[in-house]
Amino acid sequence: MNILITGAAGFIGSHLSKYFVDQGHFVLGLDNLCTGRLKNLDDLKNNSLFQFENIDVSKPLPESIAGLKKWDWVMHFASPASPPKYFAIPIETMLVNAEGTRHLLDLCRKIGAKFFYSSTSEVYGDPLVHPQPESYWGNVNPIGVRSIYDEAKRYAEAMIYSYHREFKVDVRVIRIFNTYGPKMDPEDGRVVTNLMFQALKGEPMTIYGDGKQTRSFQYVSDLVDGIDRLMKSDHCYPVNLGNPSEFTILEFAELVKKIIPTQSELVFQDLPQDDPKQRKPVIALAHKLLGWEPRVSLEAGLRKTLEYFKFHEA
Ligand code: UDP
Repeated sequence: MNILITGAAGFIGSHLSKYFVDQGHFVLGLDNLCTGRLKNLDDLKNNSLFQFENIDVSKPLPESIAGLKKWDWVMHFASPASPPKYFAIPIETMLVNAEGTRHLLDLCRKIGAKFFYSSTSEVYGDPLVHPQPESYWGNVNPIGVRSIYDEAKRYAEAMIYSYHREFKVDVRVIRIFNTYGPKMDPEDGRVVTNLMFQALKGEPMTIYGDGKQTRSFQYVSDLVDGIDRLMKSDHCYPVNLGNPSEFTILEFAELVKKIIPTQSELVFQDLPQDDPKQRKPVIALAHKLLGWEPRVSLEAGLRKTLEYFKFHEA
């Protein structure tokens, strides 16, 4: 197949690019490098099945992209995803999910390619239903600081299903719950990277709020497996992909201290505005449709991530 992946230099986009190239597909990776890192693509640099272009898909796509190959799949993963990163570039974040999605849908409509979108558990906002099934409509503050990301992703979903209904574009949408693994940006400000690097450096480990808020952490290879299975299915509505094992942030910090022996103390800092209090996916749909479930435990995944960080980011 010929696959166009936006956000290819990002954490998830780079794993996906490598996965498809390893399977013998051709991948054109696009990224404007606002949060992506070219070093994530080092292992594809000399591979004839991979090509990279520095392109911002918020702007109209160059004609050459449409004509380059007969694209089978257009996969939109370009977007800042970490709260501190999208707080820093709010308009760009909104545009890549709004205009970027529209440009890529127009391309799919024109050439008959399938469209794949990386939506997020953030569409559920600070959820009042727990755990969250795909049928939950969410609890999002439309003008809060996180709305930059949450509402942009929700808008993109609305746009995707408009193109699906109006123009019969074949679409797949996943809602990704907190995902971690090798190639995450150590500077991205998320809890996994912050706490692991703080522990490695013996610096205070920052807990926002009282640390009793929960998250469910998925290792990146489980996500990639779910994506591959969804592409091969004919289900065109949103599917949650996440690991339902739920941890408080304090429990998460304890686990980090278990795998990285450290003198670091926990320090408590203010909870960011609209920080969701709980998050855990219902994955019954992915299980039923795709026979998918996560295989990598948090401890095993963190150990693999640690090995990568020690070797590549120390
Ligand atoms: N968090 C924390 N310390 C940090 C970074 C994040 O306690 O150094 C908390 C954050 O407030 C949130 C959770 O960890 O409740 C997950 O944050 P992250 O930014 O990783 O992702 P989110 O799920 O909020 O998008």
